[in-house]
Amino acid sequence: MPASDTPAPNLRPETRLVHDGTLRSQFGETSEALFLTQGHVYDNAAQAEGRFLNTDPGFQYGRLGNPTTAMLESRMASFEGAEACRATATGMAAVTAAMMAPVSAGDHVVAASALFGSCRYIIETHLPRYGVGSTLVDGTDIEAWRRAVRPNTKLFFLESPANPTLEVLDIAAIAAVAKEAGAKLVVDNVFATPLFQRPLELGADIVVYSATKHIDGQGRCLGGLILGSKELIEADIQNYLRQTGPVLSPFNAWVMLKALETLPLRVGKQAENATKVADWLAAQTKPTKVIFPGHKNHPQAEIIARQMSGPSTMIAFEVPGGKEGAYRLLDACKLIRISNNLGDAKSLIVHPATTTHQRFTPEVRAAMGVSDGLIRLSIGLEHHDDLIADLEQALAKV
Ligand SMILES: *Cc1c(COP(=O)(O)O)cnc(C)c1O
Repeated sequence: MPASDTPAPNLRPETRLVHDGTLRSQFGETSEALFLTQGHVYDNAAQAEGRFLNTDPGFQYGRLGNPTTAMLESRMASFEGAEACRATATGMAAVTAAMMAPVSAGDHVVAASALFGSCRYIIETHLPRYGVGSTLVDGTDIEAWRRAVRPNTKLFFLESPANPTLEVLDIAAIAAVAKEAGAKLVVDNVFATPLFQRPLELGADIVVYSATKHIDGQGRCLGGLILGSKELIEADIQNYLRQTGPVLSPFNAWVMLKALETLPLRVGKQAENATKVADWLAAQTKPTKVIFPGHKNHPQAEIIARQMSGPSTMIAFEVPGGKEGAYRLLDACKLIRISNNLGDAKSLIVHPATTTHQRFTPEVRAAMGVSDGLIRLSIGLEHHDDLIADLEQALAKV
């Protein structure tokens, strides 16, 4: 078992993101090692028995745990203020495990209807196939959550801000309804990022991330994270992950572990850039609407002031001319590239109605606020003036 760095618990988040969770091998490396191994050998048969009994600390086999992945998990748990964390192969593997592990046939789940497409599929289509009922509600309506509760309701699920409309939900109020109902609240915190929103402190039981987004932050690896209390994570969820096997590759874990060192710098700068771009967009005449969590005219500005410590790196805006107007803008962008990914150092733009939200009917899209002229913009690390110049020449073509 390698030696571990256990810095003082009173260190600030930036410091913990650089040091916490480090497991140092006998070579004393400064940078965390990549343990690209499937298994681990034992000194003797009794030690092997001890590892399987959990009486001898250490690793056995890559599906059950890996030293590099363990460093990512404990560093992320420290940053999030969670007792435990498990890494998964993708964000959707994290969402699926968080939703499937705690429920059985006959249980019921309540979720906000404005969700990332695949999350909505798990709740609306996948869970019911296994006898788990689900109800989708308007997440902004606290009474709707309460009305949806049944005696068998086990889980609440929400995403805030939501994709792509950046609608914000009152996590503390929804957590209180979940608690009353004896249900656990799962929050997908991708759009807020761990830097700007702390769902566990607001009363959530489990937080999930697509680490693919801001945690990698440079468009390289897919990954996911599930965080919560020791009790919740180390029982059903850990067992589900170990037996079904959607583990994160140690290589991807290493990339993300090193990326955590720069997360506050990157996401802080991206949010600063997003604020400048959103302010500029709001001052232009062409966009018919600009939605940005940092703006005072955001529909849930009052909740944002209470529950987020920064805006996000995402902007949604509407151009005139519906789909045709949106296509003109996207096709005219030169620096900002068209991609449905987000959280990258490179700024990315997408037309949700024809891509991420294509499979919904126009009526459902309208109810979600995804109009034909809506555009989603993920702001990266370029100079903000270059991004504004690109948008300026592209808007002129709408
Ligand atoms: C991307 C994303 C996911 C899924 O993550 P993957 O890593 O692509 O599996 C889930 N929720 C939200 C909000 C996302 O943006």
